[in-house]
Amino acid sequence: MLSHRGTQRFRIFLVLLAMVSTAACSKGADTNATSAAANPEPATATPVPSAAAAVDNAPLPHIDAKRAFEYTREVAAFGPRYMGNENHKKLERYIIDHLKGDQVEDDAFTADTVEGKFPVRNIIAKFPGTKDGIIVIMGHYDTNYPLRNIGYVGANDGGSSTAILLEYANQLRVGRDQKPDKKRDGYSVWLVWTDGEEAVKTWSDTDSVYGSRHLAEKWEKDGTLKKIKALMVMDMIGDADLDIQRNTKGAPWLLDLIYTAAEREGYQSHFYAMQGEIEDDHIPFFDRGVPCADVIDLDYGYNNVFHHTAQDTMDKLSPKSLQIVGDTIMETIHLLDQR
Ligand SMILES: [Zn+2]
Repeated sequence: MLSHRGTQRFRIFLVLLAMVSTAACSKGADTNATSAAANPEPATATPVPSAAAAVDNAPLPHIDAKRAFEYTREVAAFGPRYMGNENHKKLERYIIDHLKGDQVEDDAFTADTVEGKFPVRNIIAKFPGTKDGIIVIMGHYDTNYPLRNIGYVGANDGGSSTAILLEYANQLRVGRDQKPDKKRDGYSVWLVWTDGEEAVKTWSDTDSVYGSRHLAEKWEKDGTLKKIKALMVMDMIGDADLDIQRNTKGAPWLLDLIYTAAEREGYQSHFYAMQGEIEDDHIPFFDRGVPCADVIDLDYGYNNVFHHTAQDTMDKLSPKSLQIVGDTIMETIHLLDQR
């Protein structure tokens, strides 16, 4: 019975979930440089511009969160989207249709699992940059196979990650309608809609992250891994009550950079009040030494009660949460470009 298999529904292990709200508060107070810089100072003979203003006058990025929310709604409306089923195929076409004119590649293979063979297809959209190196952003689009018969639609878990990547693509291709060959001013950014993130039976090293395990191996062989400056995973980022955990399975400097970006946008209260070790699509890359960050809110409803249940529906989500994560990650890309 499904209710007796409660533990296996959690495809992510939260080994440690510690409250560090005091530290987060003091951190916010310490780094409140923005308001200090905004204070009107009387003109003096030797004006000293703030360090931030001197190096960076770029406007803060803002994604179209309403559009991203509509994508989420459309993706969830496909219904259960486990590897290889009809809804999954429809969603593959939906993603590809939204990437017209972009450089799109497939990483397709057959996964041999305890529940049989499944077709797996990672979809990659590449946005070339002028700098040597790649920023990778991943998000899974499959939904959980064991939950296929309970009306599970994964609005947050699978839906929000698919949608936010589609919106990143919109942001990254700005200006390319006039100049199709125009490179972005910074690193190349590759968006990866990963497949087979969910376990087909019970989460383990061999029953999870099928798509990203395959891609990490492939990119290790062809030398791509060495070029990756940063890899960020988006997962369950639509929760209306957004609290992104600091997943300690990641590169500390990159986790800090995301926090800095959140601070610049004024969103820091939604980041890192809790921390823990969370397994997700980044693990095969993390294990190979790639600088990673898993941007995830694994506190979905009180005590995570909506996670991997039929309750994972649109009414639990908010466009504001997509705005917070979307703006923060676009700003993180901007900060990475300057390194
Ligand atoms: Zn899941």
